[in-house]
Amino acid sequence: MKRYIYADNAATTKLSSSALEAMLPWLQSDFANPSQPYSFSRAAKTAIKESRQIIADCIGASSDEIFFTSGGTESDNWAIKGSTISRSIITSEIEHHAVLNSCKAMAVGAADVKYLKPTRDGVILPDELEKNISAASLVSIMLANNEIGTIQTIRELCEIAHARGALFHTDAVQAVGHIPVDVKSLGVDMLSASAHKFNGPKGVGFLYIKSGTPLLPLHDGGSQENGKRAGTENVAGIVGMAVALKENCERMSQTAKRLYCYEELLIDNLSGLDFIRNGGEDHLPGVINLSFKGASGEAILHRMDLKGICISTGSACDSVNTQVSHVVRAIGVPEEYAQGTIRISLGVDNTEEDVIAISTALKQILLN
Ligand code: PLP
Repeated sequence: MKRYIYADNAATTKLSSSALEAMLPWLQSDFANPSQPYSFSRAAKTAIKESRQIIADCIGASSDEIFFTSGGTESDNWAIKGSTISRSIITSEIEHHAVLNSCKAMAVGAADVKYLKPTRDGVILPDELEKNISAASLVSIMLANNEIGTIQTIRELCEIAHARGALFHTDAVQAVGHIPVDVKSLGVDMLSASAHKFNGPKGVGFLYIKSGTPLLPLHDGGSQENGKRAGTENVAGIVGMAVALKENCERMSQTAKRLYCYEELLIDNLSGLDFIRNGGEDHLPGVINLSFKGASGEAILHRMDLKGICISTGSACDSVNTQVSHVVRAIGVPEEYAQGTIRISLGVDNTEEDVIAISTALKQILLN
């Protein structure tokens, strides 16, 4: 029997069994440092090389364009702070704090940062970028939003940036492993991803850097990752990430289809309650952001917790902050609904029974 119903998959996901199994040897029996010249190290070096190729294949990149990092936050920091031309940055109001606070740090260092406003659905319109781009040299706009799930038209935005000679970074942490991501067709120069968002381990991710993109190392040290990201590699994490990503990509369309059906079921079951669903038509499968009139998202979260159901009020990194999230503010959710915002994010392990239990619990809480 389940101990709880987990519906906070945008915060993190459960490690897949095959990823765990693939990781175990690298944590114990094959523990050698991949940078050493003796043969005991060779297996680890080969495992990293194979994992890099698997990941590259999953996103349409070349293996020498994949750089392993400690996760989404590091990848975002690197893309923004390491960009040699990021004296002028354009981003959006609804980015994750890993991007927003990196931009803030760059602004302290005298960079000029502009924040594009989204539509009510959380879409960054190409016209908005066109209007603001004149002085831009780095554009950073997320592929899919972690709170409301809205997917951006990255290819179009990227074309605008490139036409002005700007570089384009996208935070694809919520997208990779959940929707098709092909760096060549998106046209991006840099793309961030994190393993724990696609059933891989925590503390490992990657930054895709298109060949020839000027980017300084984020920190200095040894010659790992082609001299661009120093530090002994997280071999087990890298291997687990590759296995998890490949597995998620192989089952992606099937999972998405099922989760979109669950979304419909959940919304239907909530009929009679006064709420707004936030996010665009084109959104991540399973991400359901709802604002209930006159309610407190915080109180709903705690009452759901008492019923053994894990949901969120926004991004996990923001859970100490009881204010309305910056994303809900930016898209302009009416005040009487904004405080009552919750995020349900379904994942590959959720079932129809989970969805029925979630909607039943929500109705009990909101009607009492
Ligand atoms: N970017 C987005 C859109 C996210 O949702 C997250 C995590 O919530 C991050 C970046 C940070 O990723 P990590 O937890 O791997 O540092």
